[in-house]
Amino acid sequence: MRFTSLGSGSAGNCLVVEQASTRLLLDCGFGERETIKRLQKIALTPDDITGILITHEHDDHAKGAFKFAAKFNIPMWLSHGTRRMTERYLPKNTQPVINVIDNHTHFVIEGIQITPYPVPHDAREPTQFIFTDGQCKLGVLTDTGHSTPHIEQVLSGCDALVLECNHDVTMLQKGPYSYALKQRVGGRLGHLDNASAARLLSKLDNSKLKHIVAAHLSVKNNTQYLAKQALSQVLNCEDDWIGIATQKEGFDWRSL
Ligand SMILES: [Zn+2]
Ligand SMILES: [Zn+2]
Repeated sequence: MRFTSLGSGSAGNCLVVEQASTRLLLDCGFGERETIKRLQKIALTPDDITGILITHEHDDHAKGAFKFAAKFNIPMWLSHGTRRMTERYLPKNTQPVINVIDNHTHFVIEGIQITPYPVPHDAREPTQFIFTDGQCKLGVLTDTGHSTPHIEQVLSGCDALVLECNHDVTMLQKGPYSYALKQRVGGRLGHLDNASAARLLSKLDNSKLKHIVAAHLSVKNNTQYLAKQALSQVLNCEDDWIGIATQKEGFDWRSL
């Protein structure tokens, strides 16, 4: 199994998980042309995509997904709440095939086993995912306002983690956002800050961890240096061992 990102942040998210010839997109917040362009950079076309999973209805995760799925005949998987809240994105003519999932029930897509789990975020039924080929386990967590015992339980023992490091609390407080936006981003249903991500990481079994990538970094309220520092302190590793998913480039393939 291997994974890569086409881009991560408030302007669009898309993660690719591959096991043999099965390739899943986790979220698709880019428009059609941009998604195709970014897929081309990793030598893939829309026809190579087996399915699209959507975490929640926010534009940076769901905006481009439905038209893309309909046009290229790619089935989708999402929670009931996300389904309800994304009706506005549905194309008029051709509809994509949508599989509604329960976010406490495992499912399988052509050899990739998927464990969905609910997270606290200001969306209708936000869901994050763990992927496994039966041997290796990739955990993904972005767009969560805080951690929960359930999150800590499901993310424990991963071989790879993609973990939100949205902001540095001080940078957010002193930064350019309006009071209301600061409250939203920093709130219990907002986004995970570096220190909270580090605290969560410290509670996990990291004995198998081979990759960790900080994701969904705010351009205005965080730096790569601060995110890397927060996570490397927990793992007692070099800063450079912590990967960063950027808005422009995402990150390169990582194999498990
Ligand atoms: Zn987001
Ligand atoms: Zn969100």
